[in-house]
Amino acid sequence: MFPVFAVKGIIFNIKRFAVHDGPGIRTTVFLKGCPLSCRWCHNPEGIDPKPFLYHKKVLVDSEWFGHTEEVGVAYSVDEVLSMVLRDRVFYEESGGGVTFSGGEPLLQPEFLAAILEACKREGLHTAVDTSGHISRQYFDPILPLTRLFLFDLKHCDPLKHQQSTGFTNELILSNLQYLSKKNVSLRVRIPVIPLFNHNENDMTEMMMFLQSLPGKIEQVDLLPYHTLGNSKNKRFGMPNLMEGVPALKKEELLPYTDVFKNNGFKVTIGG
Ligand code: SF4
Repeated sequence: MFPVFAVKGIIFNIKRFAVHDGPGIRTTVFLKGCPLSCRWCHNPEGIDPKPFLYHKKVLVDSEWFGHTEEVGVAYSVDEVLSMVLRDRVFYEESGGGVTFSGGEPLLQPEFLAAILEACKREGLHTAVDTSGHISRQYFDPILPLTRLFLFDLKHCDPLKHQQSTGFTNELILSNLQYLSKKNVSLRVRIPVIPLFNHNENDMTEMMMFLQSLPGKIEQVDLLPYHTLGNSKNKRFGMPNLMEGVPALKKEELLPYTDVFKNNGFKVTIGG
């Protein structure tokens, strides 16, 4: 058992009734901190591991009101557990549960392991949504506590990966191979991004990599690029590297579903 007392997690969002972060109706808990810095990141406020303050302005009846909000709050395992348990009935009815996302949740390994263990004790279905760019040693303790891994795969070309995320992809690919060998439940999520991997060659390469893995991939989710990150970058005063790039429509990803389907994968658009 992990020592749950004194272990706190820095969390920047808790989303109830999430339906795209694993099976059924879920609560998604977003942990702060990510080693990557993807150009298209839709949670840019989650990249910095430290909390920060942000001054929010709201227009009410032609008058501006302002207040300061904290992005990133330290919660104990018990506090998070009691929040996620509020929706137990919905998880049970829908086959859902709790997903830990980010940022990169494995950047807070002690808290993640402790909250996963607490969820397991309560009989909740648990999923971990990972970028995969994290030292191998952090996966081992959570393997018996995680019912499903949502593993992001972005590109097979190391240089292109580095140009758009800050790091090459070797660690990610080797962690995916490692998890596959461990026979855990794995869903692979591919963000489809214009000017990065939005083409059939890159999708085919990723499909072939997945085919080469020893274990089964339960499902491949193709996630169309959307522009939520743009408004967040503006709100938090961060640089917007995707300025003017329009969102992709689901239909634009249809040819890619064939790439995976025709090679034996179950595939969705949007997760
Ligand atoms: S891995 Fe996810 S959270 Fe991290 S920078 Fe990329 S898109 Fe953002």
